[in-house]
Amino acid sequence: MTSTTRAFADARRWALIGAELVSEAVNGLDDAGYAAPSALPGWTRAHVAAHVAANAEALCNLVHWAATGEPTPMYASPEERAAGIERGRALPAGRLTAWLRRSADALEARMDELGEEQWRHEVVTAQGRTVPATELPWMRSREVCVHAVDLLTGVSFADLPADFLAALCDDVTGKRAAAPGPAVTLRVPATGATWELPGDGEPVPVTGELHDIAAYLTGRHADLRTADGSPVPALGAWL
Ligand code: ZN
Repeated sequence: MTSTTRAFADARRWALIGAELVSEAVNGLDDAGYAAPSALPGWTRAHVAAHVAANAEALCNLVHWAATGEPTPMYASPEERAAGIERGRALPAGRLTAWLRRSADALEARMDELGEEQWRHEVVTAQGRTVPATELPWMRSREVCVHAVDLLTGVSFADLPADFLAALCDDVTGKRAAAPGPAVTLRVPATGATWELPGDGEPVPVTGELHDIAAYLTGRHADLRTADGSPVPALGAWL
């Protein structure tokens, strides 16, 4: 795995860029526009938008936890998480867009208020991982940058910052390495960056552009072929 240094300041920058891309992606969407399919199976754009807004509020809970030491989980329960998305996606377009922007701004404002000591406090994510609060901007970056593409209004992985894409490939490769799957070696010829998915058998060599490799690793559509021109091996779910 290529090791990029994913700095805290970078993650905060990517979170802002991603939120802006999401905001632009939904700009002008009416009810019919929100009802169109997203890149995520079974989800409309409205589902994705509601999920991103609810995610900002959930991360605000973790910021509150870091600020006060009072345990406040992201979601009360998986059912509560699903119900929030259902309520949100049923909102009229204007209100859904407003919620998306308001929740993103509120999260940024809450994070701005955290002091150095509070950023080091540990919180527990919805996946049950215990992490220092300094991980929160990265969690948010991932959500907004990847879902900006999932909205299918024209944002692509190629529009995301290259340093974000490299950090994303590191992150996803690390998670995928812990699960069963095909052995694949991914390489970006232009930069020499490589990522390896361990798995059974001889690794399948795949080369391509960074944005396509990031799309592939996150389980999104990517224009990639193996060295001999065959389709790339299918990967299971991520996150
Ligand atoms: Zn998500």
